[in-house]
Amino acid sequence: MTYRRIGLGMAAMALLAGCQSASHRKTDWQTGPPATGHVTVTVNHNDNDAATAAFAFPAVPPPSRVDAATAAQFTLVDGETDPNSGGLDTLHDGQAPTEADQPPANFFFNAGTDGGRLLVDLGQAVKIREVNTYSWHPGARGPQVYELYASDGGAGNFNPRPRRGTDPDKCGWQLVANVDTRPKDSSGGGQYGVSISDTAGAIGQYRYLLFDMSDTEEEDDFGNTFYSEIDVIGADLPAVEAESADQAASPVLFVIPTIDGKCKITIDTRTAPPLADWADHQLAPVLAKWYPRIVALLPSPGFTAPTHYTITVKRMDGVAYTTGTHIFVSEQWIQDQMHGQAIGSLIHETVHIVQQYGWGRRNNPDATPSPDWLVEGMADYVRWFKYEPQSHGADIVWMRKQRNFTPGYDDSYRVTANFLDWVSEKDDPEIVAQLNAAMRDGKYTDELWNRYTGQTVQELGKEWQNQIETQLAAKPASANVPKKGAE
Ligand SMILES: [Zn+2]
Repeated sequence: MTYRRIGLGMAAMALLAGCQSASHRKTDWQTGPPATGHVTVTVNHNDNDAATAAFAFPAVPPPSRVDAATAAQFTLVDGETDPNSGGLDTLHDGQAPTEADQPPANFFFNAGTDGGRLLVDLGQAVKIREVNTYSWHPGARGPQVYELYASDGGAGNFNPRPRRGTDPDKCGWQLVANVDTRPKDSSGGGQYGVSISDTAGAIGQYRYLLFDMSDTEEEDDFGNTFYSEIDVIGADLPAVEAESADQAASPVLFVIPTIDGKCKITIDTRTAPPLADWADHQLAPVLAKWYPRIVALLPSPGFTAPTHYTITVKRMDGVAYTTGTHIFVSEQWIQDQMHGQAIGSLIHETVHIVQQYGWGRRNNPDATPSPDWLVEGMADYVRWFKYEPQSHGADIVWMRKQRNFTPGYDDSYRVTANFLDWVSEKDDPEIVAQLNAAMRDGKYTDELWNRYTGQTVQELGKEWQNQIETQLAAKPASANVPKKGAE
């Protein structure tokens, strides 16, 4: 998958060039008449054979990973999300689909409905240079049909959530563009990039955008567009030279915001440049999405999770470690585990960034120590049971692969992770959050287990161990796998 920091200067030049040529290789090209004064709608289409994960178009920039929509709030004002869709997050997570028909990587309205209205709140008024929308589907769900309205929210009669039936024009909104990319002579399958811009340089200064999206056909129930990404490009961003997907090299040092905009993550591969591409395209999008989720899993009163942290990939012994808000990870480990444990191990380390057990201790002179087995078990619990349960890295599937395995609740890492999952399921789904909050305040004691479950941790551990051993006895252990993980 390829995302580029995109160049508006070059995009504009490409647009001018495009106006002069009748056709582009495998790509339709049209500039519609301005919907209002100076607004230009540029539509590019890659047919099914030409569409690739690069979302490369002649005049519309490829999806941007970081833009004014990244941290914006997306809400449905009207209409229903299709349960098979990836939800609204997928529209501004900087990740575009890698295949033509990939429901979880797109947002689409429910089958049998006629679209709906989507509100984008940028959080503050932004001078907008472009609004770019992307879609991809092999059939009639490829094209885009929508009206775009914008508002600064200043009008006295402003209605931020006008449902269908309410004319946005009459409640503080302004029509910016009317988009309909449906071709006349086919179902229109393929990939679409739409760029809404203004000959004056900026569309305007707006905080709110409202998309009134329609289905593309009503012959069957499946006419709602697979929207892949919505980018809002601010006019005050420094122009960067546009790069084609093939030429662009990933930077060795960069900062990405998390998708809720509350944290910035610096990723440094300066001493490991061969890993820059992996960091840019594989690691960064996962952390941007998962940091806010880990923060939400481990809350505590009065605590704000770090708003910046750094990952440095370097030559070192071992796998990875975290100190304060800095993660260090072995270059060799990432190379060896690029398609294995690489990202999971950094999810584990990111849990340590969120735990911050020094926080309460600084304000609590009587702080009790946090047991290492629990600190590490919790990090592996989030990793194996929340982030990648499909890997079966700490459940009974994994345990069956161990030789001479006798589980102890305080064995740390995956084994404790399994125990925490078991107690969460059996007694208290909040127990991990509660133990985390106690450790963060320097108030952990073994007595907490009793308080939350009515049993001592030893009693729980014994009961859990008996159950595991019964399960293991039911099926003989198979081959051993090396027990190796991030610490
Ligand atoms: Zn650890």
